[in-house]
Amino acid sequence: MGRLFLMHLEGNVYSCKHCKTHLGLAGDIISKAFHCKHGKAYLFNKVFLQLANVPLIMSVMSSVNVTNGVKEDRLMMTGMHTVSDIFCVGCGSIVGWKYEAAHEKSQRYKEGKFILERYKVSGPDGSSYWATHDAHLGGSDADDV
Ligand SMILES: [Zn+2]
Repeated sequence: MGRLFLMHLEGNVYSCKHCKTHLGLAGDIISKAFHCKHGKAYLFNKVFLQLANVPLIMSVMSSVNVTNGVKEDRLMMTGMHTVSDIFCVGCGSIVGWKYEAAHEKSQRYKEGKFILERYKVSGPDGSSYWATHDAHLGGSDADDV
């Protein structure tokens, strides 16, 4: 298997906990107030995303260390959303999801934005986050404060 070309980011980088592929920049975080079933999740304006069906040379422009999964509707605390899982291109693990569409008008600001699950990534200082007991109270893919 060939080695994929991976974007290397400078600055405060969130990277895959497993393979250290850079996934997002701290400066692109919109909100840290999101939750998923495993605990905290951050909403990013953009992450480094590789669309599976787009040539790499093009996808570098929208930048690119994550691949997109299948779109599906998910009922979250804030209503129905169309989302797709996003995967680290380095190791293939799910690192979060992308909001393709929000069915509630008040949630439309999330469309085209990305969630990285905090426990899946290492922070800028190399810190890891581990799910805590209270993180499991929500039980499902809750995405809200
Ligand atoms: Zn990885």
